[in-house]
Amino acid sequence: MNGKAATRGEARTRLERGRTALGPALELVHTGRAPTRAVLTAELGVTRATAGAVAAELEALGLISVDARPSAAAGSQGRPSHRLSVAGSGPVALAAQVHADGFRAALVGLGGHIVATAPGCETIDADPAQVLGTVVEEGARLLRETGRRCVGAGLAVPSAVAEPEGTALNPLHLAWPAGAPVREIFADCVRRAGVVGPAFTGNDVNLAALAEHRHGAGRGARDLLCVATGHRGVGGALVLDGRLHTGSSGLALEVGHLTVHPEGRPCHCGSRGCLDVETDPLAFLTEVGVEPGPEGLLNQARTLLAEHYADPAVRVAAEALIDRLGLGLAGLVNIFNPDRIVLGGLHRALLEADPERLRAVVADRSLWGRSGGVPILACTLDHNSLVGAAELAWQPVLDDPLGALA
Ligand SMILES: [Zn+2]
Repeated sequence: MNGKAATRGEARTRLERGRTALGPALELVHTGRAPTRAVLTAELGVTRATAGAVAAELEALGLISVDARPSAAAGSQGRPSHRLSVAGSGPVALAAQVHADGFRAALVGLGGHIVATAPGCETIDADPAQVLGTVVEEGARLLRETGRRCVGAGLAVPSAVAEPEGTALNPLHLAWPAGAPVREIFADCVRRAGVVGPAFTGNDVNLAALAEHRHGAGRGARDLLCVATGHRGVGGALVLDGRLHTGSSGLALEVGHLTVHPEGRPCHCGSRGCLDVETDPLAFLTEVGVEPGPEGLLNQARTLLAEHYADPAVRVAAEALIDRLGLGLAGLVNIFNPDRIVLGGLHRALLEADPERLRAVVADRSLWGRSGGVPILACTLDHNSLVGAAELAWQPVLDDPLGALA
């Protein structure tokens, strides 16, 4: 081989290596794991020249910002490096969430940053096309107002979503027909609203877990278990090595129907005493003995826990729910051996009300070794299901930034 051909070959190799590193590099900046170009270089395992070219390319695509002048991190002994951050006015994903008490639309940028949001509290119509049409219109309005480029859309629903059909199997608290083709309906609404990019749909707790793993309390966990209430009911999710474990047809981790109180309330699944009906906001209000008010079940239950915990009726009810939640978590710990648990919705509020009690129940009922000592943390993101819905829309860009944005 002559010298010229070798040089051309090396240049091509560098270009190829740079292109395949674009996605991993973007994911590192997106998840906050590469705050500087020096860290990016080390994480990617490439030369400084390649990392510099990759960062410049992502900046040219409008996805990240590279500080022009290298600066030392506060208190750092290392050499100064260029700081990396997600672009302040870069593209966004349109995210939508429907729950028992209303809906919300949002625009979510890289880094899980919510750029704009519009809540809608109304009685959710029994026709999914009606509800999804309204929420997508809200999102499209936010896009017009901000003038941001859209990479795609994601929807979070309080139901198991069967794969590959994209149907909502059990939207029990929405009065939607079981098996409604929600992904298709959402994609239609997105197209009709003139929003560009692909459209995705997922279960709200799965998406919350994905968001917490990338941007919140689950960062750095290898086997992350998430358990959360919505406004009604309970869901679970598992993120293994950064990927959602969804099972063979999207239905894994339907933890809501674990029995935690054999003599308990009848459940809509036909059993009784399920986590779903024993530890959700309605169960808590019933246990306290108060009627549901106009502010929504979850808000009302959280307010009681935060502001009236000294009231014996509230404390006794909370302890009953904490014990049942602890039983359910212990069963899941024995099966999955997670290295971290994050709790959302009312479960987060129960943990914050009495963390020692919940941890003790889980430890007492778990198996040997470290499984009983698994850290149990509160979810930290506001609107984590919305951020997770946006993650679905961001995924093609994270996989291949040049291909997705070309
Ligand atoms: Zn059940």
